[in-house]
Amino acid sequence: MVRSSASNSNKTVGVLALQGAFASHEAVFESLGVRSLQVRTPEDLGQVDALVLPGGESTTISQLLESSELFEPVKKSVHEGMPVFGTCAGMILLSKKILDGRADQLSFGAIDIEVQRNAYGRQIDSFEADIEVKTFSTPFHAVFIRAPRISKLGSGVTVLAELDKDVVLARQNNVMVASFHPELSRDDRVHQLFLKEI
Ligand code: GLN
Repeated sequence: MVRSSASNSNKTVGVLALQGAFASHEAVFESLGVRSLQVRTPEDLGQVDALVLPGGESTTISQLLESSELFEPVKKSVHEGMPVFGTCAGMILLSKKILDGRADQLSFGAIDIEVQRNAYGRQIDSFEADIEVKTFSTPFHAVFIRAPRISKLGSGVTVLAELDKDVVLARQNNVMVASFHPELSRDDRVHQLFLKEI
């Protein structure tokens, strides 16, 4: 396994740990020798240099962000330039607009995308696919679980990978999003891509 560069060896990556697949993200960072911290409170957030918003259930994570009083501090950090990576539900939370969301569901409006929840169907319609990621020399095997689809994309957003005609990995400034679950692939290249920005 390729080790991460020494440049981020003194950085701490926070993983929002309110609900969802946060433990698998932590395992990837651990295998890369990168310090990570579970973020559950504003105090935790104050200790990290970057943040991962994991997959899970975006409606639930939205509620928990409010009850833990993390919503506003995370929003502020992201808009001030903290590197953040949202996967699946995390991508929904970072988007500008959510289609088929719950009326009270919040998002950070941190990346100029419109996202349709559960666009590929129900849990049973989850799937895996090899995708070509810009700068990767071989395909990345991606796991899609009740995945959202990017239905609109602003001109400031860079496309990093597509599946058929859908953008599945993208970046705008400090914000990176994936509609799939890179932490479940036993392949740390997408995490390394994120770490390069820290
Ligand atoms: N469909 C879920 C949601 O709306 C996301 C699924 C996932 O994160 N695997 O939050």
